[in-house]
Amino acid sequence: MTNFTLKNGVLYAENLALSQIAAEFNTPCYVYSQAALTQAFTSFKAGLVGTNHLVCFAVKANPNIAILNVFAKLGAGFDIVSGGELARVLAAGGDPQKIVFSGVGKSVEEMRGALNAGIFCFNVESASELTRLNEVAKSMNKIAPVSLRVNPNVDAKTHPYISTGLKNNKFGVAFDDAISVYETAAAMPNIAVHGVDCHIGSQITELAPFIEALDLILGLVDQLETKGIHISHIDVGGGIGITYADETPPEFTAYAKAILAKINARNVKLLFEPGRALVGNAGVLVTKVEYLKASSKDSEAKNFAIVDAAMNDLMRPALYDAYHDIQAVSPRIGAAVTYEIVGPVCESGDFLGHDRTLNLAEGDLLAIMSAGAYGMSMASNYNTRGRAIEIMVDGDECHVIRQREKITDLFALESLLP
Ligand SMILES: *Cc1c(COP(=O)(O)O)cnc(C)c1O
Repeated sequence: MTNFTLKNGVLYAENLALSQIAAEFNTPCYVYSQAALTQAFTSFKAGLVGTNHLVCFAVKANPNIAILNVFAKLGAGFDIVSGGELARVLAAGGDPQKIVFSGVGKSVEEMRGALNAGIFCFNVESASELTRLNEVAKSMNKIAPVSLRVNPNVDAKTHPYISTGLKNNKFGVAFDDAISVYETAAAMPNIAVHGVDCHIGSQITELAPFIEALDLILGLVDQLETKGIHISHIDVGGGIGITYADETPPEFTAYAKAILAKINARNVKLLFEPGRALVGNAGVLVTKVEYLKASSKDSEAKNFAIVDAAMNDLMRPALYDAYHDIQAVSPRIGAAVTYEIVGPVCESGDFLGHDRTLNLAEGDLLAIMSAGAYGMSMASNYNTRGRAIEIMVDGDECHVIRQREKITDLFALESLLP
């Protein structure tokens, strides 16, 4: 995380000390680096120069409109999974003609919204969805551009909850059914077959599963061609992992090179849907140590650092047993102790890190690293906790990009019985 480094003993985001940001905006607080977002996007594109491609940021990784706007200005497209995400992208200045719409449960209303906006493509995930989309498009006198998300039955070798390309996952059209569903699609009057796509999972740290899936997809494209169904774009999905601890995911350029080698001289547009890889290491969650709870003499007992961020702010540890590095914002010299870093929520699953060796005092600030992806986007109000404030740092300036939720906001939509 090169934009989050220690300077004179304090952790900085670009040129601003996290301690200064916390003093001004309080904790818990998500802090992003605009430079890190830009660097991630430009380095993702670096290996694709001169090719016909579109990089669609997967909005669900971090949907804040300021973040979407940074990517939109860099020319990004967007991968959305709901009508809500469509509205965000449009509010952020995203180009509708660069939007792909994924997801297994698109409603009639969501289809209408996307057809009205004039999106680039629907990533259709089932035969039933195709039938519905054809009807909706017909009722609007429109032709819906589609790509079928096929499920290549490839093991992404990642956490089962974020593996999506196996036969037993709910995603996509089974590979063996793909030809027949394409034939159905090609015969529908209000459907135009444009592409094929696959997305096999998330936090993938090897190239092999991507290539295995692409080989299968290319075989399918060739078979479709013999049946007179022409595929003009191939969407290879997202899923490239990031370094949380000691993972060594493929470099963007190596990933692009491996994919381009397979595409070879084919005349197709390539689409990518990276989420985590563009934002994961561009953000941290800053939290304050509320209490230290020392262990008893019992050797089984643990030391707890109870912080003011919790599973409702960052769900990944509780949900996937995910690891996030945790650093002191102003590291202390001296003997460290092993802590369970836990939040105030009433669940034993409410932890942010196990067995972290730190020298802490109550009131200290901690930075939960690599929290830019699936952090704020999965945050909830569990335990009636307002969601954290979000700050974007740009050099030595910072901007509030989402205010801290007020407690009264949390029940403003509720009513007492008459
Ligand atoms: C979540 C998702 C992505 C992004 O995945 P990352 O692992 O964050 O890159 C891309 N495409 C689809 C269809 C998704 O559901």
